[in-house]
Amino acid sequence: MTSITASIPGFACPQCGSHIPTSFDLLLSDQPFYCSSCGLKLQLDREESSAALEALSLLKNGISDAERIKRGGG
Ligand SMILES: [Zn+2]
Repeated sequence: MTSITASIPGFACPQCGSHIPTSFDLLLSDQPFYCSSCGLKLQLDREESSAALEALSLLKNGISDAERIKRGGG
């Protein structure tokens, strides 16, 4: 793994393993997104993934806090 994509939110494509950049906002917005490598369409099922979405929301809040701290320098 390179460090180039380390700061880009995303995950590995379940089909080809390529990094799919996405964001929590996109995940939470019900918008489908596509693997730029194989074109696989991915869309979160809100009803089936409500627990996962809740976890993402918590994670997003945690990241926002971390970024605010990082920017503010403490
Ligand atoms: Zn793919």
